[in-house]
Amino acid sequence: MTGTSSPNSAGTSGKPGDDAPVGTEGTGDDICPECQGTGRVEGRACEACRGTGIVNKGIGGA
Ligand SMILES: [Zn+2]
Repeated sequence: MTGTSSPNSAGTSGKPGDDAPVGTEGTGDDICPECQGTGRVEGRACEACRGTGIVNKGIGGA
C-alpha cells in the first residue's frame, strides 16, 4: 500500500527488518522490535516489518 517499487507486496518476504528470507532454516516469525508488533511507529507504518508487526528472525539463540 505504500507504492514502493516492489512487485511482490503480498506481505511476508523481504522486509527490511528480516534477519533472513522467510523459510530459511533456523528462522521464524517474531515480534518486530522496531514497533513492538504494532506495525506502527510514531503513527506511521513501520518500515522494518512493513506494518505487519512481524519480522523473520533467527531462533534458538543462533
Ligand atoms: Zn515493525
